[in-house]
Amino acid sequence: MDNCIFCKIVRGEIPSAQVLDADKVLALLDISPVNKGHVLVVPKEHFETMLDVPDNLLKDMILAAKKVGKGMRKGLKADGFNLSMNNFAAAGQVVFHAHLHVIPRFENDGLKHWPQKHYDEGEMDSYREKIATFL
Ligand code: 5GP
Ligand code: ZN
Repeated sequence: MDNCIFCKIVRGEIPSAQVLDADKVLALLDISPVNKGHVLVVPKEHFETMLDVPDNLLKDMILAAKKVGKGMRKGLKADGFNLSMNNFAAAGQVVFHAHLHVIPRFENDGLKHWPQKHYDEGEMDSYREKIATFL
């Protein structure tokens, strides 16, 4: 993946601030953090979205995120952390090399959760079925 920014980071062609270099994943600071210390967990091999990442590698990613979260609690004195993953452009994915965001959170850091919608009467079951049918 010649032009992929995260592949270039993995190859060492552009610099990054790495907090973890494991066998199959890297964890590095996001260049434009939501909160300072925001980390990206990036598989060393290129896959576009979560749906393309092999299960074993997903496990490595989530375990790396867990380590990073623990490190944030201790090292940054974070009160909490958010784990998120943008999959496909509609969900805000900008870099099409799958990655997890680990965002340190602090009491009163001013960030808001997503706005929430509501279901009309009976609607919830139709949504449940539409998803469950394909699992
Ligand atoms: P996405 O929206 O695809 O989930 O997020 C991509 C993330 O990659 C963004 O939060 C953005 O700040 C980060 N990013 C983009 N380019 C670079 C880069 O060259 N280095 C680092 N460390 N992060 C980057
Ligand atoms: Zn890539």
